Amino acid sequence: PVAETPKPAAPAPAPAPAACVFCKIVAGTAPSRKVYEDKYVLAFWDIRPRAKVHLLVIPKQHVASLKELDELPVETRAALLSACVKVARDQGILDEGFRVISNAGKDASQSVFHLHFHVVGGEKLREDAI
Ligand code: IMP
Repeated sequence: PVAETPKPAAPAPAPAPAACVFCKIVAGTAPSRKVYEDKYVLAFWDIRPRAKVHLLVIPKQHVASLKELDELPVETRAALLSACVKVARDQGILDEGFRVISNAGKDASQSVFHLHFHVVGGEKLREDAI
């Protein structure tokens, strides 16, 4: 029999910064209005909603932004997008339309440095906003 080449071990995830507010929400040490949770992701209401429905979908594992997406296991990457659609459906905004946005870095005015997707809808969204 041909010996199998051992798979290289996956790199250990970077430790989460103690001060990260979204990590605290994941840990349950900060409050949130949770709408969905599974093994990989968490979804909750934005604390300052800018549309009738404004949710955030985050990976439980800390990465700073979409720039670091490749540091997440492929299952988490898939779960993030699926959760965006699922929470939109659960909140009843799927049929009329919704928007998914992730601000990454300075030019996008990212303010919380734990990857998140804004899921917004429930009303007519501005046509000139991306
Ligand atoms: P960003 O500007 O794309 O980084 O978005 C960060 C979002 O997180 C903003 O829309 C904030 O209102 C929201 N936010 C900040 N802190 C909390 C919190 O503790 N719970 C829920 N949403 C938060």
